[in-house]
Amino acid sequence: MAKVIYFDNNATTRVADEVLEAMLPFLKDLYGNPSSMHTFGGQVEKYIRRSREQIAILIGCDSSEIIFTSGGTESDNAAIKGVLAALPEKRKIITTRVEHPAVLATCRQMQAAGYRLVELGVDRDGQIDLEELESEVDDDTAIVTIMYANNETGVIFPIDKIAEIVRAKGAVFHTDAVQAVGKLALNLDKSNIDLLSLSGHKLHAPKGIGVLYVKKGTRISPFIIGGHQEKSRRAGTENIAGIVALGEAAELAAKTIDRENTKVKKLRDKLEDSILETCRGAMLNGGKINRLPNTANISFEFIEGEAILLSLDQFGICASSGSACTSGSLEPSHVMRAMGVPFTAAHGSVRFSLSRYNTEQEVDFVIEKMPQIVSRLRELSPFVK
Ligand code: PLP
Repeated sequence: MAKVIYFDNNATTRVADEVLEAMLPFLKDLYGNPSSMHTFGGQVEKYIRRSREQIAILIGCDSSEIIFTSGGTESDNAAIKGVLAALPEKRKIITTRVEHPAVLATCRQMQAAGYRLVELGVDRDGQIDLEELESEVDDDTAIVTIMYANNETGVIFPIDKIAEIVRAKGAVFHTDAVQAVGKLALNLDKSNIDLLSLSGHKLHAPKGIGVLYVKKGTRISPFIIGGHQEKSRRAGTENIAGIVALGEAAELAAKTIDRENTKVKKLRDKLEDSILETCRGAMLNGGKINRLPNTANISFEFIEGEAILLSLDQFGICASSGSACTSGSLEPSHVMRAMGVPFTAAHGSVRFSLSRYNTEQEVDFVIEKMPQIVSRLRELSPFVK
């Protein structure tokens, strides 16, 4: 396969070599079921325990507060539906308009089932109004679910402040931290976050493994029921290889998080600054300051994001666009619309998301190609002459 220049790490990440090595024995020799009575099966239990501890260190909590799931989507569903099931007397849910569909679609399904749903809007920087949030949380509010960092723009919400507001009003607070864990230092013991979702494949572990953190004392019903795994909090035979992999990835992330914040941010800034300078009609989406260190979301006026992606693809460069191609019409993403990005720019948004595996040479290559791609597509655009 031709060399791939991978700038789509918010979509998924490469499995780290160390992670692959750690998980392989559990796909081959150590295939026992940890619930079995025999020694062969029972011996894998200690690896689950170790992984729980590795993850607890990364996010600053007690290992008993970690429940393994199949990924971010399941964790989000389990958090929202689990709290609503545990607090049947409360009928209100609060979220934002820029959540990932794993949260937004779940909240809207609950709305269709009779709950009251408030979707908070955001400003041009992608931030919510904290006073509006405070005035919306009331005695009827079961859960407030607000993402830690946005997957399209990288915009970080002031989660500790938000959690404090929600706690003071007595509602449960969940955050989808799928894009934050491994990129930002967290300390859940010191926060008012009750529930947090994370996903392995965003931090160099494989797809299909995730965690729901549940602070001790949080009222929540199990979402997937059956066997007694995870202390009856999430049924189903454990994905041991995935669990071991996520533990290893968490340990690696804890070691490299400073590098991610410096080396990766430096590369991202170089890429972003150069594109904004050399490409006509380019503009940054989302506030510049409170942002993940690895994400740049840039709009190119009067050009379709998909056209840019296809041109980049011809050079082996992988990036992504916020818009979804539905039934032949290109809809700007719900995040761009919520931020009020003008229609002429919302269509042309491209997300570059880096990881610790990207190099300066790769950034230079993209910087060289982008102005040519943008000029050529703009010449073809029916909207500008
Ligand atoms: N939440 C956010 C913010 C995400 O970016 C993603 C994945 O893109 C998910 C949830 C879903 O996670 P998973 O793919 O592990 O189900």
